Amino acid sequence: MHPQLAHDRDRLGSLLESVRLHAARILDELDERAVLPSAPPPEAGPLPDRGPGLAGALEAFAERWEPALSASAGPRYLGFVTGGATPAALAGDWLTALWDQNSVTSLDGAGQELERQTVGWLRELLGLGQGHSGAFVSGATLSNTVGLAVAREWLGEQKGVEVAEAGAAALGPVRVLSAGAHSSIPKALATLGLGRGCLVPVAALPGREAVDPAALERELAAADGPCVVVANAGTVNTGDFDDLRAVAALKRRYRFWLHADAAFGAFAALSAGHAALVEGLDTADSVCVDLHKWLNVPYDSAVQFTRRPDLQARVFRNSAAYLSSAAGTPDLVHLTPDNSRRLRALAAWFTLAAYGREGHREIVERCMGLARALGETVEAMPGLRLLAPVRLNVVCFTLTEDPTPERLAALADACRQEVFMTPTVYAGTPALRAAFSNWRTADADVPRIAAALRAATPAGAQPGRAGQT
Ligand SMILES: *Cc1c(COP(=O)(O)O)cnc(C)c1O
Repeated sequence: MHPQLAHDRDRLGSLLESVRLHAARILDELDERAVLPSAPPPEAGPLPDRGPGLAGALEAFAERWEPALSASAGPRYLGFVTGGATPAALAGDWLTALWDQNSVTSLDGAGQELERQTVGWLRELLGLGQGHSGAFVSGATLSNTVGLAVAREWLGEQKGVEVAEAGAAALGPVRVLSAGAHSSIPKALATLGLGRGCLVPVAALPGREAVDPAALERELAAADGPCVVVANAGTVNTGDFDDLRAVAALKRRYRFWLHADAAFGAFAALSAGHAALVEGLDTADSVCVDLHKWLNVPYDSAVQFTRRPDLQARVFRNSAAYLSSAAGTPDLVHLTPDNSRRLRALAAWFTLAAYGREGHREIVERCMGLARALGETVEAMPGLRLLAPVRLNVVCFTLTEDPTPERLAALADACRQEVFMTPTVYAGTPALRAAFSNWRTADADVPRIAAALRAATPAGAQPGRAGQT
């Protein structure tokens, strides 16, 4: 064994203790560090010939890289839809690496069963029925990709072709109907050989991002044969929801596969006051749910649910003499694009085991309350206006005067030490959005964000108006 490796092996306990101390220090400072630091990435160094061992690598990482990393695990990183990691989820993630399982077949230990049981917990948490089976993937993009791969196979079934054998070309033209599809949907369609061009935008309700069911019905009636509908449960701009029951009701008259992108919106089910937004989610044929957002587990974690594991295994079957068959209850290796992968369910298992339904409901409801509070603050702030009501956890707003992308980027940039928000365009208007999904975010963060916005908003800086919120 190389001496440096042997050295680290012999001192592993104390080395890990130093990593633990380092981690505790980072976590202690997380709430106060610059949300998006301005330190540039370090220059590339040479590949070491003889490395310094774990302690030296930790020192180099802390000195060279950490100052330039964002506080995305912290309470005021409100860009995209970004969760943190609950204490139990973090521990689960550490132990995932520690155990280093590749539990995707029944030939291995119990890891695969841990994943199945965790999927069962999530199904219960989100109000999905037993008809949905699921598997872990690395994120909602992959979850959408798998859901649409099953949809593609279902289209083949309707037309009497096996797409997994014959290829996507055997399907002929495909139509995927959606009002506010997330950018990952066209990406998934490109990956699947269906092409971005098969996405047909459907009109939204006036002033909304939610699909107009009447417009969707017109598209379905005009379609020549079965198609795919992507329903959106929680849009990234404004947290808007399609009426899932109205969409599902169209199945009585038209043949389509219903895929629901509920990446973060699915968590509305945890709150009694918001559960109606996801009523009907269970009727979808496939459902995408992200876990590294509102469940607050570390990247990379999401689940894809489907009612047709048989079609799923037709696509992702990995036939090898040394593996189990894909028939019956297929092993995980036959259900997703991955073959080998980490015991991805463990972080989710830990946080659900540690905090249960109530703990996670509290996170979701707190985030929604904070979003409402920031929405009210923005609404009352000179120089800013809300572009949509705060329906869930996203606050979408813009400048009252001259809201150009440049001026909004400058506003976001002026706030970046204190809060990180991402730009968007909503109904043709350049805007910023702040999404609350981190378990650490607290009441006191809203006035801090408001103060940063006020100081950076052109109209807010006018004498005599600066004191208003
Ligand atoms: C975040 C998100 C995605 C993509 O998720 P990744 O985890 O980044 O792959 C897809 N759909 C919606 C609605 C999302 O919010």
